[in-house]
Amino acid sequence: MLEPMSGRIPARFIDELLARTDIVDVIGERVQMKKAGRDWSACCPFHDERTPSFTVSPNKQFYHCFGCGAHGSAIGFLMNYDRLEFPDAVEELAKRAGMKVPYEGARAAPREDASDLYELLEAATTHYRRQLAASDAARDYFRSRGLDDAVLDRFRLGYALPAWDALKNALATSAPRLALLDKAGLLSSGERGSKYDRFRDRVMFPILDRRGRTIAFGGRILTAPKAKAAIGAVPDAPAPADGDATATDPRAGKGDGPKYLNSPETPLFHKGRELFGLWQVREAHAKIPRLIVVEGYMDVISLHQAGLTQAVATLGTATTGDHAELLFRQCSDVYFCFDGDRAGRQAAWRALESVLPRMRDGRQALFVFLPDGEDPDSLVRTQGSAGFEQQLAAATPLSQLLFGELARDVNLASLDGKARLVERARPLLMQIPDGAFRDLMFDELERLGGVRLGSAPGSAPRVAPMRTARPPQRSLVRAAITLLVQQPQLALAIEPPWAFAGLRQAGVALLVELLELVRARPELSTGALLEHYAQREEGPALQKLAAGDFPGGVEAARIEFIDAIGQLERQTRQQRIDELQASHGAGALDDAGKQELRQLLATRGS
Ligand SMILES: [Zn+2]
Repeated sequence: MLEPMSGRIPARFIDELLARTDIVDVIGERVQMKKAGRDWSACCPFHDERTPSFTVSPNKQFYHCFGCGAHGSAIGFLMNYDRLEFPDAVEELAKRAGMKVPYEGARAAPREDASDLYELLEAATTHYRRQLAASDAARDYFRSRGLDDAVLDRFRLGYALPAWDALKNALATSAPRLALLDKAGLLSSGERGSKYDRFRDRVMFPILDRRGRTIAFGGRILTAPKAKAAIGAVPDAPAPADGDATATDPRAGKGDGPKYLNSPETPLFHKGRELFGLWQVREAHAKIPRLIVVEGYMDVISLHQAGLTQAVATLGTATTGDHAELLFRQCSDVYFCFDGDRAGRQAAWRALESVLPRMRDGRQALFVFLPDGEDPDSLVRTQGSAGFEQQLAAATPLSQLLFGELARDVNLASLDGKARLVERARPLLMQIPDGAFRDLMFDELERLGGVRLGSAPGSAPRVAPMRTARPPQRSLVRAAITLLVQQPQLALAIEPPWAFAGLRQAGVALLVELLELVRARPELSTGALLEHYAQREEGPALQKLAAGDFPGGVEAARIEFIDAIGQLERQTRQQRIDELQASHGAGALDDAGKQELRQLLATRGS
């Protein structure tokens, strides 16, 4: 079931994986790019900018930002953009390429803590599912909410028994396991430090990461508060406070803890970055057409069951900037659903604020306000998917919501009111990235405010991206390494043995190593080559060298490279001459040495 997370991924596999992966596709799925000559360019996803200085090179299989200096291979991009650890980024690319990641020495190596946590959370998921299968009350609850078995399975729903130690007894088979269970967020602590099950008598919603692994749970209280006495008390913890509880529902019961309880933040779970249901959405769609953001677990599940398999939920938090980024990375049309009441409108405004800085051209944020007293779950159950689609079709576009809310208590018939609107709107519109949408929003503000704001209001003065010039030729070795990193196949232009390997100069050993590496694997791209050095201290320096481009193209670079190697060989010869002459001066040169020196001096000019 679980991938062996420990163990080393062989370098050869990384080479093969990167050879079968096109970095342009990987980045193109996440960032809107334009063709620029041989390369692709985009506004950098790693820093805020208005003019594109982010470049992706299909030849080098390498990206680089001239603004903030971000750079790397397809693996590095996923690590930075999707916030994946190295093995997860490799797994993600392997999945795309239809390859299976081999792990070397997986059994011998000490297992990583993270993989133990995943395993334990998986075991907890299974445990809760078993309890659901055995509990009539819990299954009745889901049935009363209209859920069928298929959707219970798809969301891996479960049930936590009304007991203090059911999960603990089942999974904490040793002291280390108990500590791990605690670290996974599945236990609470009593006043005297005793540990007991965090989730009791709750239907359980596993929260999955982007690879379908359980990283946390949400639990909804099942029994009415007065029936709670049946659970009994543990001596040390008569009334657990559940102080770290997260109530996702303002109508929370006043019984044992909040109506909804989430796992606390753990090494694997950061609620501001996760979306409930996203894994199921990705499973249901090769290309996600739109996303529907709702508030509750049951909303997501009911929508999926009704065939609206694009629903996700934030986990009891307002939509964060991280959420907005994650949402738009999946698709360009995002619907946010809210109650029609005052709290709903406030939540919508917070969502609007979080998406504004991410409204690049082509992206669309729409806001749905449901009729009074309805939530997505109730609406789809009474009116079906067609009824819900109607709500989506009547959604309010971002522009309308923004100007509508700002103008709410403003008299637009008065000059004062118009000025106030402009004053409120301007700082918000300034956050929109450069593009047609930003221009249109400012046009609309001019129309409503009856003022000319001037062309390109607030735009930063346009600064041409600083192309890093070719580094000054500090040394021939550096020049040769630079060329080789930018165009690895140059290694094939010179045949071993390489006389210069004996040259005592900084960087020679690295140059030789690079040459040998590329000759052994001639298909290596720049990105794949650099991946070999990702964990080494030379890594960052090599990446910087890789970012530039040799002016004059491939053939000019070849000539320059061969010339540099030729000069290095002459320097090596001179080094030997100096050595032999020093020995000769000291009277320590034998006949063979004298012979060698004569030959070297004779060929020096060549
Ligand atoms: Zn950047």
